[in-house]
Amino acid sequence: MYVVSVVKMSFFSFAFSSDSTWGGTSSAFTSQRPARPCDAMLSFESFRFTGRVSTSPGKRPGDSPVTPSPKRAAGGRIGVVVAAKSAEDPCADAPPLEVRREAFVAPAPARWRERYAPACAACEAARTPCAHTRERPLKLLVCGHNPSDHSWMSGFSYSNPSNNFWRLLVTGEIIPKDWTAEDCPRLQRELGIGFTDAGTVPGNDAAKYDRKTMLAWRADLYARLRGHLCRVAAAERASDSESHGDSPGEQIQSSSSSSSSSSSSFTVEASARAAERGYGPAVVAFAGKRQYGQLFDRVPKRIETGKQEPDALPPGWPFRAKGEGATEVWVLPSSSGRAAMTKEAREGPYVELGKKLRGVAWPRTDHETRRERTT
Ligand SMILES: [Zn+2]
Repeated sequence: MYVVSVVKMSFFSFAFSSDSTWGGTSSAFTSQRPARPCDAMLSFESFRFTGRVSTSPGKRPGDSPVTPSPKRAAGGRIGVVVAAKSAEDPCADAPPLEVRREAFVAPAPARWRERYAPACAACEAARTPCAHTRERPLKLLVCGHNPSDHSWMSGFSYSNPSNNFWRLLVTGEIIPKDWTAEDCPRLQRELGIGFTDAGTVPGNDAAKYDRKTMLAWRADLYARLRGHLCRVAAAERASDSESHGDSPGEQIQSSSSSSSSSSSSFTVEASARAAERGYGPAVVAFAGKRQYGQLFDRVPKRIETGKQEPDALPPGWPFRAKGEGATEVWVLPSSSGRAAMTKEAREGPYVELGKKLRGVAWPRTDHETRRERTT
């Protein structure tokens, strides 16, 4: 096996040369093996130069006609460097990138679920992913560490009464005064606020999850975030088709048919295109430093709360970091009652985040404005 390192994409693009739906352990995932696993964690900036890629399903990248042979790549002038896989390559064994087609829903009797979009009552009750509501670009996506035992069973994030999260959202004027954890399912439709966690297993002790586990969670979290991007893109396409009366030949997909939409809608490159279009949340806020720090290849010794520098985001971060349609990344102090800190230190970043969010419309219109300007 060869590992292709893309140095500069000029006129020949193949960083992701094929869409491959591999028979993995779960049909909910679409896996792709990137040309070079570390570039997997391809930044948006590098992705934008990759242009069109082959979309022949069911083939591995090595089978793709657009993947140049190593010999040709090395000899040609297509701006690539090819290196044999070596034991020193830290990326050599990186897992393939995945895209999770559906939001995570905990198995019964638990009720916790990822909430990127409102779930209809029937799907909420049946504990199934809901494909009956439109998934929109969010104002805010909150990313916790993992559901507490309490949240896992209640279905509402941060529902343990000892957790200050909901009170902090009120303090920051991010939600109305009288809203509590039980309003969690309302936030997606009414305020554009979604919820996910780094890990989708219940537990009250974050420290018991070791580095290896956290790295596995990172890959899984990114697969879920990419899935969100792909579902938003499908819903936006469907909405455009409806409003413009496109011909039936036009690919029409909506969130209501996302489970049956083609695998080409759920690929790493489709998610990157969606990110480029600004379909990511306006803000992703990590409710706690630990799960954010664990996204880095080397866990930072110190993480400041508040807005993070776009140049210093974790590798492979699936949303656009800079420019129009960029997703701001914020780190909030842990809302756990156990974390010791002053009232000011705990509340300040929530108040700042509230100010930021008041400048973002709901439903979001920024991506539509950009699209109108460019078409
Ligand atoms: Zn539903």
